[in-house]
Amino acid sequence: IHPEPVAVNRILQEIVEQIGHQVPLGRVEVSLELDPSLPFVEGDSGRLRQVFTNLLVNALQAMKGEGVLRVISRCAGEEVEIAVADSGPGISSPDLAKIFNPFFTTRPGGTGLGLSVSYGIVQALKGRIEVDSPPGEGATFVVRLPRVQRG
Ligand code: ADP
Repeated sequence: IHPEPVAVNRILQEIVEQIGHQVPLGRVEVSLELDPSLPFVEGDSGRLRQVFTNLLVNALQAMKGEGVLRVISRCAGEEVEIAVADSGPGISSPDLAKIFNPFFTTRPGGTGLGLSVSYGIVQALKGRIEVDSPPGEGATFVVRLPRVQRG
């Protein structure tokens, strides 16, 4: 991990532009809702790219070519929040307790490593990653990272 001030919006924009090469978008509408005055975060741009790519790939795989994928950034106090919210099938509550565990997967051929690696990266950057999946409303992953201190 190499801590440096990172412009998260730019990373999110680049990933959204390129993600169609990794997972077919089909009829998915991607909605980028970025706070234009987002502060820099204490991060590692390569690692954060890995985290957000994983969240977007997972969301698109779950959505199977249709629905709305929202990618939202905003500032909340001393933290920057990035939410990735899909309109896919969501995650059952027994699975919610396990999805960050290494090797937990429900996908044929899945490794179950993406989310556990992402969890470790966010933790190393002194941030948090959480998931919410109210029945029938898809899945939302929220990453919170400390903003670069002013002054
Ligand atoms: P993999 O993609 O190899 O399965 P991950 O660690 O990235 O590994 O994901 C673990 C599991 O979490 C997936 O197999 C899936 O069951 C679940 N999951 C992750 N993201 C989503 C999502 N957006 N919607 C529904 N299920 C998800």
